[in-house]
Amino acid sequence: MPIVETGTESLVKKDRENVWHHISAYNEKNPPMVWESGEGAWITDHEGNRYLDGMSGLWAVNVGYGREELAEVAYEQLKKMPYVPMTQSHEPAILLAEKLNELLGDDYKIIYSNSGSDANEVAFKLARQYHQQNGEPSRYKFISRYRAYHGSSMGALAATGQALRKYKYEPLAPGFLHVAPPDNYRRPAGQSVEEYNIQRAEEFEQKIIWEQKETIAGIIMEPIITGGGVLVPHPIYLEKVQEICNRHGVLLIIDEVICGFGRTGKAFGHQNYKVKPDIVTMAKGLTSAYLPLSVTAVRKDIYEKFDTGEENSHLRHINTFGGNPAACALALKNIEIMERENLFDRSVELGNRLQNELAELKDHPNVGEIRGLGFLLGIEVVENKETREPASNERIAKLMGDCKENGLIVGRNGDTVAGFNNVIALSPPLSCTDEDVDFIISVVKKVFKDNK
Ligand code: PLP
Repeated sequence: MPIVETGTESLVKKDRENVWHHISAYNEKNPPMVWESGEGAWITDHEGNRYLDGMSGLWAVNVGYGREELAEVAYEQLKKMPYVPMTQSHEPAILLAEKLNELLGDDYKIIYSNSGSDANEVAFKLARQYHQQNGEPSRYKFISRYRAYHGSSMGALAATGQALRKYKYEPLAPGFLHVAPPDNYRRPAGQSVEEYNIQRAEEFEQKIIWEQKETIAGIIMEPIITGGGVLVPHPIYLEKVQEICNRHGVLLIIDEVICGFGRTGKAFGHQNYKVKPDIVTMAKGLTSAYLPLSVTAVRKDIYEKFDTGEENSHLRHINTFGGNPAACALALKNIEIMERENLFDRSVELGNRLQNELAELKDHPNVGEIRGLGFLLGIEVVENKETREPASNERIAKLMGDCKENGLIVGRNGDTVAGFNNVIALSPPLSCTDEDVDFIISVVKKVFKDNK
């Protein structure tokens, strides 16, 4: 047998030769980390260095690493029945759908896919079909917000409002429109947050009217824009958007891919507000990213338009891997862990501590604002507090690099929001211990103090 070289240097070399990474442009001087193992909120790289993963991977590993019961439930299911096409059914899919309905607090039909992008594509397809079968075939357009990310496929990327993510990949799917999100920190001087949020919500209505309401199928939004800079709206904003949707016959699609499963302190982020979405999409925290699985949950009154028995009125969408039995069994166990360990409440508790303790950084010359909800935090870094000029790439890179040097991985809102890529994000596992949170706080404080 040939000897397989698995030393870090050799792996990095092979990586450079063979692996094409997402988003990142690595080079010899700046290689990717090779992650080896994880326990709780901590990951260990191939050389044995430990880091607290302040981003839960990509905002996803909500119950933390090293959960043997998740591995076991998947293993048992793989032995018993590894695969069932979702043209048929199986026990974990049925029980998970029931559980998700309980968390959603309403009657939804659950459609399974593999990724957040998939789940949003399903939402777009079925929203169009719904309007066709509901006597309004001209409704095909979707409105979303600038700065929001909704996925990498041609429809989900079209819904995305981050210019650099789309640059050189256009034209994408037609029929996607955008409005500005509420960015309370940068609202016009003298305007109250509430007034400003009402105005931002009304931009949806203006768009609907300008575009002819009979052409608008849906609005898609995260409850809180996460990857686009942790933009927490005033509660009036979502209520107003819901009211506009209702008034104009537009479906409200809420993207819970990051905000779901406790990130903002509730099962779903929209449950912090008085809204009842027509469609809810979810992924990431659904399995805490241990296996791929996503869901498009659709109100049953919408489903009824697909259940008429008329020719071709059913949803003619198919997905080979969606609803994999091991992934569904694991998702059920993942939710059981969240409930057993009260991780939704814990998210609020830890997030509040983080915000309270880091509040002292508000006096730092480069900290514009610290904001968040639940265990989700954004630190808006600026060059100048008066003008609010966004921090330079160099400043952000230095802060992030210093956090890593000190054992903490933090995120940023992509380098994709032209002009506003200056928000450092924290979205750690909800399973963090008190000591883990102390560690995050101490590193962030130290790094900002060292970078005055
Ligand atoms: N929606 C939101 C809000 C996301 O943050 C993401 C991914 O980061 C997606 C959708 C797409 O999910 P996926 O990468 O699983 O396709």
